[in-house]
Amino acid sequence: QAVVNLIAAGEIIVAPVNALKELIENSVDAGSTMIDIQTMEGGLKMLQIQDNGCGIGEEDLELLCVRHTTSKLQVFEDLREIETYGFRGEALASISHIAHVKVTTKTRESARAFMAKYEGPKLIPPVEKRAGNPGTRITVEDLFYNVPNRRRAFRSGNDEFNKILEMVSRYAVHCSRVGFTLKKLDGKGSSKMPISLPTDMGILQRISALFGAATSKELFEFQTADKRYDFKASGWSSNANFSLKKMNLLLFINNRSVESSNIKKALDQTYAAFLPKGGHPWIYLSILISPRNVDVNVHPTKREVNFIAEDEIIQCICEEIRSKMTAVDS
Ligand code: ADP
Ligand code: MG
Repeated sequence: QAVVNLIAAGEIIVAPVNALKELIENSVDAGSTMIDIQTMEGGLKMLQIQDNGCGIGEEDLELLCVRHTTSKLQVFEDLREIETYGFRGEALASISHIAHVKVTTKTRESARAFMAKYEGPKLIPPVEKRAGNPGTRITVEDLFYNVPNRRRAFRSGNDEFNKILEMVSRYAVHCSRVGFTLKKLDGKGSSKMPISLPTDMGILQRISALFGAATSKELFEFQTADKRYDFKASGWSSNANFSLKKMNLLLFINNRSVESSNIKKALDQTYAAFLPKGGHPWIYLSILISPRNVDVNVHPTKREVNFIAEDEIIQCICEEIRSKMTAVDS
């Protein structure tokens, strides 16, 4: 219980991008094939995500923003797996704690869509009936409205928007069968759409659209696994003809975007042997590990992750990339 209290809303959601990451994961978990995102002032004023996933049943709206209510329990074998994947019924509770949340949703079985508003964990009645297509739209407004010091710490929405752009780009590469759009509204009626990827756009085309053709042109695909350490890894990595001033690592562990300074360091060292001095790689790396092997005692934001046999797994991945790199060179 102590751990639960420790992971307070303010620690999970420190910036709009943290809220958006949770919302994207929910939309992906709901089986969506299209995810449309809109922001105002970098998500501080408004953040909206519309998906075409399974929707939320009318009967589930009452407790939607109550901590530790998750519909994902039955899908997983035990609580440990749930925690490891971040399915703890924490995200919407945390977001509604510090922002105004509005949910419009329709399941395939339901004849109508329903719209519900929340204040903290509480649904503010009435739930309104709407027309609409299957899926869920979640609108988050006035983030940190009740934490004015936190709100004031954000100087402009631009930095926050850039973090959002980066996060959406990462998920758009990892979830390459899901269409994504990201629209930036200025509040005066005009908008820009920095990301617009249809559902059927392949991963290399996506990387090209998001990170430039020069990047996607120099990538090779890799894949490795080892039963001893119970992991699989795959991804795309830049070859020796390509280098960046700063490493760009899109890292996913068990389908969640995370950070790992250990992995980052090891990959950078692997590339140091191939790239000119001061050059760094572009890498998209997805690792699947048995949830039992992931250390759940991680930082509350769930970004920096540790896992069992980390050194061995990292070595396998670096070895795989090194062997492919040689092939490119010769
Ligand atoms: P968790 O994802 O850990 O279950 P959340 O607070 O993120 O907890 O979400 C709570 C519940 O709300 C989910 O378990 C799911 O049933 C439902 N939900 C949230 N977002 C969506 C969505 N976009 N589509 C369908 N169901 C959703
Ligand atoms: Mg969630």
